[in-house]
Amino acid sequence: MGGGQAGLAAGYHLRRAGLDFTILDAQPEPGGAWRHGWDSLRLFSPARHSPLPGWPMPRYPGDGYPTAQHVVDYLTAYEKRYELPVERGVRVRSVRRVDSGYDVDGRFAEAVISATGTWWRPFVPALARRLGGRQLHTVQYRNPRQLTGQRVVVVGGGNSGAQIAADLAGHVDLTWITRRPPRYLPDEIDGRTLFGIATHNPGGVGALGDIVAVPPVREARDRGLLTAHPMDRELLAAADTVIWCTGFRPALGHLAPLGLRDHHGRVTGRPRLHLLGYGNWTGPASATLIGVGPTARAAVRTIADEPGAAPRSRS
Ligand code: FAD
Repeated sequence: MGGGQAGLAAGYHLRRAGLDFTILDAQPEPGGAWRHGWDSLRLFSPARHSPLPGWPMPRYPGDGYPTAQHVVDYLTAYEKRYELPVERGVRVRSVRRVDSGYDVDGRFAEAVISATGTWWRPFVPALARRLGGRQLHTVQYRNPRQLTGQRVVVVGGGNSGAQIAADLAGHVDLTWITRRPPRYLPDEIDGRTLFGIATHNPGGVGALGDIVAVPPVREARDRGLLTAHPMDRELLAAADTVIWCTGFRPALGHLAPLGLRDHHGRVTGRPRLHLLGYGNWTGPASATLIGVGPTARAAVRTIADEPGAAPRSRS
């Protein structure tokens, strides 16, 4: 379930293992969440450091880091190259356990991989509902023209908050609110080294900082345009628009019938059910292009090694 980068990485390994599979994707076109970011969104690493398994991302022809459109083109070509059987416009509503497998909206599967991402479940704190003015989330932000002449508050000290604040700086009357002072990763650290750090550093990337200092963020910061304020209800109430860059939750509604949460709210396992790509909790850096491959390979290996694994579709 899910035909973004995580679903395609799983498809690559399922194909190699010769298993019979289908990818169900809610969207009408390839690209997953990459079709939906803001206009100036760029990868925080060069193309050669953003590979899915088997075929690296083609070089980005322009200057600097690849655009989201470059990623969409790559995912589109990747899907074709490996002839991945993606059914588009199919939103899975519910997955239920049945004898020897799962019922996926009436289709039988011996094993399922859920790779439905997080973009589709934006998280906005309850406080936003008690404010006047326009309340947006990261997913609704496109570009500064949307907000010309407005007093805008950006909330959030992660990458989305920093990048959107940098995008708006100098174009609108901007206030940036973060819960604690912004923590920039050292300037020389970008996506090239992030995966290694996430994989080998016991504290993960978070131990070093929250924000990758991509060139536009670095520039706005160094020009003194990114001053962060602590949370302040008066600032929020005075804004024409607040943009909540407050993160996402995993889009797992279709798995609700399986009752995957234990009484601590943690997701617990089920046989032959694999969660892929949602965050580090599903595998080191598995919510990134470079990181999802190893987790996908491990999931497929487990499925293929099960006694009585699905019939092989190809030799
Ligand atoms: P998605 O891309 O969200 O794909 C999931 C697919 O599943 C979608 O097509 C969706 O429509 C579909 N779906 C959802 N629910 C259902 C359902 N019930 N049934 C069927 N289909 C369903 N990573 C990097 O490697 N480098 C970067 O520079 C980078 N920058 C980022 C910047 C931002 C602002 C964000 C938010 C993320 C960034 N990431 C980056 C992280 C990561 O690459 C993305 O989050 C990535 O899109 C996750 O891929 P995915 O396949 O897990 O999910």
